[in-house]
Amino acid sequence: MHEENTSTAPATGKPASSLLDPFARSISYLRLSLTDRCNLRCLYCVTEEESEGSLCKLDHEDLLSYEEMLRVVRVAVAMGISKLRLTGGEPLTRRGVLPFIAALGAIPGLTDIRLTTNGVFLADKAAALLAAGVGKVNISLDSLKPERFARITGVDCFQEVWRGVEKALALGFSPVKLNVVAMRGVNDDELVDFARLSQELPLQVRFIEFMPMGAGSRWSRDMYLSTDAIMAEVSRLGDLLPVEQVRHDGPARVYRLGADARGSLGFISPISHHFCDSCNRLRLTSAGTLRSCLLHDEEIDLRAILRSTQDDAAVRAAFRQAIADKPKGHQLEERLRESGGDCHGRMSRIGG
Ligand code: SAM
Repeated sequence: MHEENTSTAPATGKPASSLLDPFARSISYLRLSLTDRCNLRCLYCVTEEESEGSLCKLDHEDLLSYEEMLRVVRVAVAMGISKLRLTGGEPLTRRGVLPFIAALGAIPGLTDIRLTTNGVFLADKAAALLAAGVGKVNISLDSLKPERFARITGVDCFQEVWRGVEKALALGFSPVKLNVVAMRGVNDDELVDFARLSQELPLQVRFIEFMPMGAGSRWSRDMYLSTDAIMAEVSRLGDLLPVEQVRHDGPARVYRLGADARGSLGFISPISHHFCDSCNRLRLTSAGTLRSCLLHDEEIDLRAILRSTQDDAAVRAAFRQAIADKPKGHQLEERLRESGGDCHGRMSRIGG
């Protein structure tokens, strides 16, 4: 890893440095999981037993405090991170999240704060989020049918989520993205309906390939739908016109469904066309560990470091180590072929 100039962020608001990993990827994006708790029990995130009972959760003292997270983010931004995504669990369930976001917004050099949410509490919190500096939101929504939504998430709250989508659009969040995990036999008959939504509303519908995450998760080869299959299905509505990517657009390949579409379609293919070559991200899990790849279980215990010293040099060293250890690519396909095995990290802890 090469780190050029790790001095504090300048008043210009520009990152102080650029962080390059051994494969010359520039690391500029940190995903921060605020909690492993969630008010939903989505079938791709929890095991069958957990869908009935309570989630296996971290104790409160095992979560990083907001002060600890602010310390990490300040250090990371001074090193070159400029984009932050708040995720979870469900980030909007953590008490005090709005003042925390406002404090993040005051960090010089942090130019881009985004949120991934299930949307249940979004309508109520959207205005405050916007005021606190989060104007970009991804909302997870895997069905447009209320009853099916309840079966997928374990909770009958489609209308709350939809109110959140409408509120985000009305208040001018930009972009508003809908994350749709495409699953054969679960929501594959709705792909066209979701695609049509991208023609009618100024939002981006993003189809995500279902990943085998978390020990005991309900992924199966039969449920997996490749991006190619999803594209073939939605292009029944019209031609997919490529949209030029903008910086920080992330791993999605973006298209417009016809020249008149108000929104766009994104395709995220972690399995069939993985985007490891351009991966620019690190993750801080809700357990306070730094993870350099979603699909590799190696992590650095940053929480222990934060609690053992007030010297930020140790935090910087942990970031440098995570970046140096970032694998060239994930070997999910090979692992699936060899053992049918999955990645043991829990999505609710890592944050997606
Ligand atoms: N609670 C928030 C939410 O629902 O968006 C944030 C956490 S959730 C773990 C983050 C994202 O990961 C969601 O968009 C979800 O759809 C996606 N996700 C979770 N498990 C997945 C899996 N096995 N395959 C693909 N995407 C998954």
